[in-house]
Amino acid sequence: MRYHNITKDDMLNGDGLRVVLWVAGCNHNCKDCHNPVTWDIRGGIPFDQAAKDELFAELEKPHVSGVTLSGGDPLHPDNREDIGALIDEISQKFPYKTIWLYTGYQWEAIRDLPYIKKVDVVVDGEFVAALKNTQLHWRGSSNQRVIDVQPSLLRGDVVLHCK
Ligand code: SF4
Repeated sequence: MRYHNITKDDMLNGDGLRVVLWVAGCNHNCKDCHNPVTWDIRGGIPFDQAAKDELFAELEKPHVSGVTLSGGDPLHPDNREDIGALIDEISQKFPYKTIWLYTGYQWEAIRDLPYIKKVDVVVDGEFVAALKNTQLHWRGSSNQRVIDVQPSLLRGDVVLHCK
């Protein structure tokens, strides 16, 4: 897996202050994508041990609420194995920190991935320029959903974290 950036004390990509991992690779090709530089799966730099240490050092800090995995698409087919292993490791090492995940895939297509049950919130769906709304919380267009993962899996239906 490769990545472009790790941003710290981020307030724009989930509840609280978060560390955000911006993963390389996306094949959704959304019109007016905010971050097309992240589309290339060969872009950015390798997510190596030093990068992981940097991410985990942020999660050690008491004021950091958790991690947000964004991109690009962390669930690009070529990222899934590594992102799954990362989610497993974070949930083991930092059980009291929340994991948010942004993906261009719809919830129904990814809810059965084994590591999704360890994620707290999924923001799903492609960005649709015609449905863009800057007033929305944690999402760019109204088709996207901010999904509370645990109750959604329990109920077998989407439960929104917020509207
Ligand atoms: S899913 Fe996100 S990163 Fe990928 S093309 Fe759409 S807006 Fe851009």
